[in-house]
Amino acid sequence: MDLQQILDDIATEVASLPDLGRVATYIPELADVDPGHFGLAIALPDGRVLTSGEADAPFSIQSVSKVFTLALALGRLGELLWHRVGREPSGHAFNSILQLEQEAGIPRNPFINAGAIVVTDAILEGRQPREVLGELLRFIRGATDDEDIRINDRVAASEQAHGHRNMALAQFMAAHGNLRNPVEMTCGTYFHQCAIEMSCRQLACAGRFLVGGPGMPRLIAPARVRRINALMMMCGHYDASGDFAFNVGLPAKSGVGGGILAIAPGRASIAVWSPGLNANGNSLRGTYAIKRLTEMTGWSVFG
Ligand code: GLU
Repeated sequence: MDLQQILDDIATEVASLPDLGRVATYIPELADVDPGHFGLAIALPDGRVLTSGEADAPFSIQSVSKVFTLALALGRLGELLWHRVGREPSGHAFNSILQLEQEAGIPRNPFINAGAIVVTDAILEGRQPREVLGELLRFIRGATDDEDIRINDRVAASEQAHGHRNMALAQFMAAHGNLRNPVEMTCGTYFHQCAIEMSCRQLACAGRFLVGGPGMPRLIAPARVRRINALMMMCGHYDASGDFAFNVGLPAKSGVGGGILAIAPGRASIAVWSPGLNANGNSLRGTYAIKRLTEMTGWSVFG
């Protein structure tokens, strides 16, 4: 199988798609990004990283950061984390408040906004945001083997200034006793983690610890790798997670910056970026690219 040829073919196919999708506008800093960018990278067990398109262009990883904070929270709290956040698909939009009211301030899963805010609150407890963000960056830089990964403060400030909805989710959970730190502190940390910038090459490398098997770094226990992958499969694409599993068949996490990290267990860590989003807030061309990749490689976990 000529993987480089496959990646090049996918980039060519993607360029001819009629639809670009639309960039997220509720975070003004993201609204100005050209929806037509496209990059793709795969990190393999033999150490190679293959790319096509703009694989070295940095983008805002946004909700893909939730995978890394979950890994840190499981390391810190272990199973206790599940007292504060569930493990079920939500079936609702990424920023929905509906289920919080019905389920006593316990978010459905760690990958919807409410759940990720609880996860951030959990790793924050007893520490300052600076320490937590430092730990998160160290984890990502270590996983990537690249010190050149930063937070874009303008994007964080932009989200902070317009983050009323996330603040509302946090206030609601605080009212139910499910936040342990001041709402402003937890949300401020969350906005900064979402504003981390990475390229597809960096993100594919960062995801290697979730691939498992020979040649891939072991940063957390294999049992936790399995669980994070299970959650990515069930909840990584918000209310379109079922559709993504149906069409692609890989654990994956998307972000409104247009990035997707997908894991082919034992085979590869895959990162794609195209900022134009579909109706569910997931990268339109990125989703297409990963679907084609699994079709061409047979890498779906369902065979
Ligand atoms: N920072 C974004 C928000 O909280 C993340 C959402 C996403 O990437 O899906 O709204």
